[in-house]
Amino acid sequence: MNNTYISPPATAPPSPELCNSKAHDISADTAIRDTFDFVSSKPVVEAIGDHAPIYAGSVGQQLQESLAQIDIDGCAADGENAFFVADLSEVYRQHLRWMRELPRVVPFYAVKCNPDPYVLRLLAALGCGFDCASNGEINSVLDLGISPSRIIYANPCKAASFVRNAAARNVGLTTFDNADELYKMKRFHPKCKLVVRILTDDSKSVCQLGLKFGAPLDNVPRLLAKAKELDLDVVGVSFHVGSGCYDPDSFRDAVGRARKAFDMGREHGYTFDFLDVGGGYAHDNFEPIASVLRRAIDDYFPDQDFAPGGKLVEGKQNGLRIIGEPGRYYVQRAFALAANIIARRDGKSDEAGEEPVKKTSAGEAEEKPEVMYYQNDGVYGAFNCILFDHQEVHPKVLTLDRKYVYRPEVDAPGCEDVSDLQACSVWGPTCDSIDCVRPMVHLPSGLKVSDWLVYENMGAYTICAASGFNGLRRSEVRYTVGEGHEADMVQSLLSAGAL
Ligand SMILES: *Cc1c(COP(=O)(O)O)cnc(C)c1O
Repeated sequence: MNNTYISPPATAPPSPELCNSKAHDISADTAIRDTFDFVSSKPVVEAIGDHAPIYAGSVGQQLQESLAQIDIDGCAADGENAFFVADLSEVYRQHLRWMRELPRVVPFYAVKCNPDPYVLRLLAALGCGFDCASNGEINSVLDLGISPSRIIYANPCKAASFVRNAAARNVGLTTFDNADELYKMKRFHPKCKLVVRILTDDSKSVCQLGLKFGAPLDNVPRLLAKAKELDLDVVGVSFHVGSGCYDPDSFRDAVGRARKAFDMGREHGYTFDFLDVGGGYAHDNFEPIASVLRRAIDDYFPDQDFAPGGKLVEGKQNGLRIIGEPGRYYVQRAFALAANIIARRDGKSDEAGEEPVKKTSAGEAEEKPEVMYYQNDGVYGAFNCILFDHQEVHPKVLTLDRKYVYRPEVDAPGCEDVSDLQACSVWGPTCDSIDCVRPMVHLPSGLKVSDWLVYENMGAYTICAASGFNGLRRSEVRYTVGEGHEADMVQSLLSAGAL
């Protein structure tokens, strides 16, 4: 499936002005570090628990520092493994952006998207709540010392043992979309506050969820009648328009439906005061969605009815409480992944038979990859996002013939002009042929075995679903608080005792 919010697609060769030939020379192994920018190799936050320490400086500096520690020609097994760099200041910036655009909507970070311990810590220190979908997620949030009142157990179909544990640990807010879940809640957690998850139009989202979750509005009266009969406390409505939503109007439509569900609540003797506008936000679409969402909330939940003292929330002193469950939005851009090219097959010299040349619809000869690159993380690892999250990933060159050439703003660093680019395919390290990271991409022809590629925007739905298939290790993370005054802020938020 195409990806509408990471651009540009890298299948077309980048224009010559995007290319750059000024490279640091790191080919002499001994003096590699001398050619890098200044790097602070002392952690600014010591390792907390069994997690890694946190450094300061840009992503580029962390990449250089990490590469400088890898002796590609002599390291022990796993020494040249792929690795992430996480810039925690990016999470902080996204939070400020959220608060600026949606000040009424309290973010409850969707833990499943990336349960990184420092991401959770930072968001906790920033005052976020958490959307947990399992017992494990609940425990990892509570174990940080976060109050259970800051958790929504936002899974409408829960295991009974998880519900019992939620009750025992005082997690008192959850979603439902079916009658069986109501019986389960009555039995194991009867005092829990309940939120009815309604079905909305998810046809404008990359990852649709409506097939699995959400009560159609027509079913809501029946569910509310059942809840009332069971003497359960339904407090409001939630929805999720689907992950990777590319049509802001989906949110307007969803808020309209939520309002209808509020009215159904009144008809069944409930006074709802809780609206959960779910996830679906991304870096590239956030402002358009936020502006549609603000308006929709104002239109469908006007102050005279829903503010404190408003006539539709009588007796609820806080008026309408609104939360969102952003996942992707917070972490998408905060993580980059560096992968090492462990092998290479040259189409010309290594391929046996000649296939007939295929033609495109325009009658041109279809371009075929000339070179196959094999890197040490693939679709069974961090690149599972290609299969599960419908992503297209974009390799950039980190080192070219052992020279560090990466510049974040350049697409194909290290090549003088587009004629230096070559059609290639990029594969993961497992023995499965489904393990293809890019069937066709243009990379500099000088790329060699032991060079490094880097993939930006690898924070959402990557690490969390990586497997250890084929005995391969999951890629580890090097953390930075970033640069400048934001780095100071992030550092103090993360330092022990800030929660
Ligand atoms: C996955 C999920 C989210 C997060 O969705 P994003 O698109 O990553 O923001 C939020 N709420 C629920 C219930 C989810 O299942």
